[in-house]
Amino acid sequence: MPIRILPADVASQIAAGEVVERPASVVKELMENSLDAGASHISVQIIGAGKGMIMVSDNGIGMSSQDLSLAIERHATSKLTNADDLFHIDTLGFRGEALASIGSVSRLTITSRMEGQDSGNRIKVEAGRIVYQKSIGAPRGTSVLVKDLFHNVPARLEFLKTDRTELRQIDDIVTRYAIANPEVRCELFHKEKKILQTSGLGDRRETLGAVVGVESSREMLEVIAEEDGISVNGFISPTTRSKSNRRDIYFFVNGRPIQDPSLVTALTQAYHTMLMVGRYPIAYLFLQVPPDFVDVNVHPTKAEVRFKNPQRVFRAVQRAARRSLLAHTPIPEINQNSDWLQSAWRSYSIPSEQGYPGENLVGPNWKVPDSVEMPETQTKSHHPSLGTLKTPILRLIGQVGAAYLVAEGPDGIYLIDQHAAHERVLFEQYIAAYEKEKENNDRIDSQGLLQPVAIEFSTTNSSMLEEHLDIINRLGFVVEPFGSNTFIVRQVPTLLTDIEPEAALRILIDDFEEDESPLQQQVEARIIARVCKRAAIKAGQVLSGEEQQRLLSDLEQCQSPRTCPHGRPTMIHLSVDILERQFGRKGSHSGM
Ligand code: ADP
Ligand code: MG
Repeated sequence: MPIRILPADVASQIAAGEVVERPASVVKELMENSLDAGASHISVQIIGAGKGMIMVSDNGIGMSSQDLSLAIERHATSKLTNADDLFHIDTLGFRGEALASIGSVSRLTITSRMEGQDSGNRIKVEAGRIVYQKSIGAPRGTSVLVKDLFHNVPARLEFLKTDRTELRQIDDIVTRYAIANPEVRCELFHKEKKILQTSGLGDRRETLGAVVGVESSREMLEVIAEEDGISVNGFISPTTRSKSNRRDIYFFVNGRPIQDPSLVTALTQAYHTMLMVGRYPIAYLFLQVPPDFVDVNVHPTKAEVRFKNPQRVFRAVQRAARRSLLAHTPIPEINQNSDWLQSAWRSYSIPSEQGYPGENLVGPNWKVPDSVEMPETQTKSHHPSLGTLKTPILRLIGQVGAAYLVAEGPDGIYLIDQHAAHERVLFEQYIAAYEKEKENNDRIDSQGLLQPVAIEFSTTNSSMLEEHLDIINRLGFVVEPFGSNTFIVRQVPTLLTDIEPEAALRILIDDFEEDESPLQQQVEARIIARVCKRAAIKAGQVLSGEEQQRLLSDLEQCQSPRTCPHGRPTMIHLSVDILERQFGRKGSHSGM
């Protein structure tokens, strides 16, 4: 085929494809324009998850009638004049592409009145062509209405996800800009129902509270740091609160939400040793850097940036987060050099069931995918008998430190971590009950709470919860929606009567990853493992002799008694051999 110049409408559809991928991209571009226009109030209205209608209205500076007809042209912008400006960008937009792109794949109406002008103007664009333009009365500011998105690009429509997912993406975008701009009142409506609102009073923690819930925002630790001309401000989660994915780690550079895996790494490294492997913090971090220190023109959606000196930014984030964590979290001191501890570790003679962590088969079909590191010093059992028996026959001696059971076995002493052991016991009992009920097409036994508990979630979390109510209820919880993002817990599984319902529900939510459909069974096993961890006896809990004995015998009944469901050991073995060496009865001291 000979080379041809593409017709204008094809070229603009191709370009639009880069900027406008889904309804949330439209919301993003329009909110950016409103923010650039200095709005103090932005209202986003959605119908049909954005496929039906998106309307973004602001009270910003507005546009004159000439500007209005220019705004919808490609490469038309008021934010740049020459190429140099590209390296001093202090607005969110600068490519002059968004309105043109949106106009080429939807029916677009813009109504705007400039400050100081008596009347406003309206322009309508369909498939890239102006179909209507006239002067009209309008409030100050700009209102952009986008209808029938992708009506002329059916292939795009087919690629969109479920309405719920698209709405969640929109919610996520509005949330990001709302938190980044606490001085702007932001509202999001879906089908005329308000699903998000911030006050615009300028307080970032208060704004965060409006979005993620007051309780969660109160727990967050504040980060305030400045180093090397880079300031890092915002909030990070305490070590007691974490998630199984990185989705709640948000970075902003000069007010722009960005994605940068290396900054995520910088943050998670700051939590090193404070979070379990496979757990991630929650963070909203706002970086302020000199405009010439960052290239924002890397990607059509402006979601990525390039720093002049990435290491400097990496270090600034890591240090800022670490400092805030240390200020709030005392680090436990362990005397790593203790001779006794070292040899105890070395002699640690109980291998994980399957040889590698996180893959502890409980029954033929159950796996726990959450992997957790095992101590490196772990060695193979020197005791063949242990390889075949699940646990040796143990005689309970007692409890120490309100955390460990001590038992005597055929070859020495066993120290059992009561929390890890109970976690394992609950997990296997729960799985067994669950499988049995599933066979009978029934649900797990549950027990009513004396006082049903109402819990409020963020919009995103509550839509996730709603999506998974089925599985939650099959797992023996009785949870019902209770109006605007609130749920009521009426019953909890009989096996877990000690758990706090609120904690349990939050754990459940953490596990529901968007758009991922791992094997149902894995989801269930993982959820059960996490719930059991929460419900298990804690270290620090004094157990009666009877309780100690019951825990020990329950553990003996388990199919994989030697590790907790997350792969950490439930017991440590001090062999007679080790004891003899330590007491100088053997080895170099023998004969004394
Ligand atoms: P960009 O934001 O990259 O300049 P857009 O296509 O998004 O490109 O917008 C084009 C121009 O239209 C902007 O530069 C701005 O001058 C004007 N404009 C768009 N939206 C608004 C708004 N909400 N209020 C005032 N002016 C706007
Ligand atoms: Mg723009």
